[in-house]
Amino acid sequence: MGEFELIERYFKRPPQRAQVGVGDDCAIWMPTPGQALAISSDMLVEGRHFLSTVDPAALGHKALAVNLSDLAACGATPCAFTLALALPQADDAWLSGFAQGLWALADAHGCELIGGDTTRGPLTIAITVWGELPPGQALLRSAAQVGDDIYISGVVGQARMALEVFRGQLRLPSDAFERARARMERPTPRVALGQALRGVAHAAIDLSDGLLGDLGHILKASGVGADIDSRWLLHASDGDTAWPAHCPDLAALPWAQTLACGLTGGDDYELLFTAAPEHRAAVLAAAQASATPVSRVGHITPAGLRVLDPQGQAIDVSSLASFDHFA
Ligand code: ADP
Ligand code: MG
Repeated sequence: MGEFELIERYFKRPPQRAQVGVGDDCAIWMPTPGQALAISSDMLVEGRHFLSTVDPAALGHKALAVNLSDLAACGATPCAFTLALALPQADDAWLSGFAQGLWALADAHGCELIGGDTTRGPLTIAITVWGELPPGQALLRSAAQVGDDIYISGVVGQARMALEVFRGQLRLPSDAFERARARMERPTPRVALGQALRGVAHAAIDLSDGLLGDLGHILKASGVGADIDSRWLLHASDGDTAWPAHCPDLAALPWAQTLACGLTGGDDYELLFTAAPEHRAAVLAAAQASATPVSRVGHITPAGLRVLDPQGQAIDVSSLASFDHFA
């Protein structure tokens, strides 16, 4: 199978919104008048971002999901993407699985594949995605304000749990492992939530490198600090806070590992965002409108980053990053 046959067979479909899609020198795309474009690229490299044994359909899903997650974190509505592929060989079974996972997620979000590049080389997948949003409404890392509540969507930590099982550092019951592995291999980009948060949230980021690290990007860009209440990981109610996204599999680990996975585990692709306390009802409405669980896990302070343990004592955050809780 040659390069052009491969593209024709797996990656070419009739254009939808594009005026010209796959097959010419450039794709031609008419932007919606008056809308801003949000553009993002993410690359996945075998051995670095995924294991060679991963199911190709899951990989096709994840390659696009991590890109859609960036659009979600800005509050943008996905439009289209390009796909650059380096493949060691043209393997039909692999390509059809990969394409199936990719198309399923693309179609679920009405995001059109309009071009790309294909070459022989070590397995690498680079996607550039773009979306639209009203000018001035993007959710930016720099927009957190002192006093804001901090929220996360869904559950964080399970992707790391699966990784530690693969590394031989953690043992899990098989059903808990399958749940964790599904989260690692098939993350859900929170696109509908991101859009619903336009005009409601201040700052937002998607969680790819771990909660504390990614929150750190918001704190730095906004010139603020944060207190995180780790009780949400255990679901211990504080009376007025709901933690709908509680994960029993994560809470069942020894506390040091619950903390390590929840606060420093990457690859979850949930959203972390901040919003003024006056907007609590609006945040809840956005969560409901997008059918996405959202938990309030802390608030923005003038400076510094503190994580409070279930007794309200500050945890040494540096020990979380430097100490290997799975050794
Ligand atoms: P050129 O040499 O002009 O860059 P190519 O031969 O690389 O064109 O690609 C031919 C057409 O196929 C182009 O429209 C390109 O965008 C598209 N294409 C190439 N690889 C992919 C891919 N992996 N997915 C989608 N479209 C692709
Ligand atoms: Mg080319």
